[in-house]
Amino acid sequence: MRVTIFGTGYVGLVTGTCLADVGHDVVCVDIDRAKVDGLNQGVIPIYEPGLEPMVKANHAADRLHFTTDAATAVGHGDVIFIAVGTPPDEDGSADLKYVLAVARTIGRHLGGPTVIVNKSTVPVGTADKVRAAIAEELAARGADIAFEVASNPEFLKEGDAVNDCMRPDRIVIGAGSAVAVDKLKRLYAPFNRNHERIVVMDVRSAELTKYAANAMLATKISFMNEIANIAEKVGADVEMVRQGIGSDPRIGWHFIYPGAGYGGSCFPKDVQALERTAHQFGYRAELLGAVESVNDRQKGHLFELIERHYGNQAALRDKTFAVWGLAFKPNTDDMREASSRRLLQQLWDAGAKVRAYDPEAGHEAQRVFGERDGLELCDSANAALVGADALVVVTEWKQFRSPDFERLRAALADRVIFDGRNLYHPDEVEAAELAYYGIGRGRSV
Ligand code: NAD
Repeated sequence: MRVTIFGTGYVGLVTGTCLADVGHDVVCVDIDRAKVDGLNQGVIPIYEPGLEPMVKANHAADRLHFTTDAATAVGHGDVIFIAVGTPPDEDGSADLKYVLAVARTIGRHLGGPTVIVNKSTVPVGTADKVRAAIAEELAARGADIAFEVASNPEFLKEGDAVNDCMRPDRIVIGAGSAVAVDKLKRLYAPFNRNHERIVVMDVRSAELTKYAANAMLATKISFMNEIANIAEKVGADVEMVRQGIGSDPRIGWHFIYPGAGYGGSCFPKDVQALERTAHQFGYRAELLGAVESVNDRQKGHLFELIERHYGNQAALRDKTFAVWGLAFKPNTDDMREASSRRLLQQLWDAGAKVRAYDPEAGHEAQRVFGERDGLELCDSANAALVGADALVVVTEWKQFRSPDFERLRAALADRVIFDGRNLYHPDEVEAAELAYYGIGRGRSV
């Protein structure tokens, strides 16, 4: 099938590449000319495992095209996806300006009956707004063209996006007509071969499904961080508690890891947006508010542990902290809403210096922070330790899991590790004569 995708970010680029990989003819359109030029020359703008060779192979096979020419792109697609950003508005609602701008562009260029599919994460009711924006443009040019707006939320996770896209747990299709459902079923047939993964529903339910999924995952994380904070107070070890509850299949092992708070481009904004939607419809979503405030507090927790160790903030002046991990989670270079950003700012505010290393987010950190006093971006975990007083682990990259603790003791002047992801066993660290602070590990009180 001929597919057009507006937006060549994490979602648009991965989706377009996977659809091309199963044989569809895909045009990806973006307003960012530098990104499009780069992609046409084989430069992949994001780090995502497995993506680069797939983009190059499908581009070379003439099934995956990149353009800034919206008119040609609209003309190409039997199905047109909208996969642009939906950042938070000032009040936390999803800002639909990019989605509606694409809708108007589609309306200006639409030449024949088409299914327009919203893949961006958008509040319930957005399909109606997209439909109205397209209809307005069609009316302005006196065109009478049948079109339908469907919802097909995306569930891929950064860091494993290609795998998620090629082997989805489920494909949610929200549509109001059999024609649209049939078209999307045919599009996704190659991903639905060994068992049924497609769930068909009405548009509003599909729009809400995406928020419900992210809000549930964020809730699990905040719940576990709450338990971790209680564990710290009462002298219990949350890692033992985690093992004690995860074995219950009703609870399960996923997303019950305590840590330095969730970040990324989705959980924070989606929990907030769902809360705003509820509010607009006259419902106070108390649980969602609590999920957010627990997370906000948790992002400051590593710094609290650091202050606790050093006695007060003043003692941090001119200390140097090695920071391992800047991305909001492993296997991505994405630093949007990352816990590291809060921590670094708190350390700088206290007059401390940072030597940071992240396997993939170094260039993103350079872009976010620029050249500034108090930050040295290092090109290895060991390089970050040079001249450091203490180590803080913020992102659980695999390569940080088994450090040489003897080496750490020799390198860290103050002989202390703050482990924001509970990667280490306190006994092992303490056996190397290093002080250890984890999350929710009561013995470190
Ligand atoms: P992104 O910021 O990485 O990419 C968005 C792209 O859209 C950018 O390249 C931008 O230049 C482009 N764009 C903006 N306006 C445009 C226009 N008028 N025409 C063409 N292109 C335009 O965003 P993302 O992370 O891919 O997220 C896209 C949507 O998918 C969001 O709603 C997000 O919530 C949702 N989502 C994201 C993820 C994720 O893990 N990143 C997962 C599931 C859903």
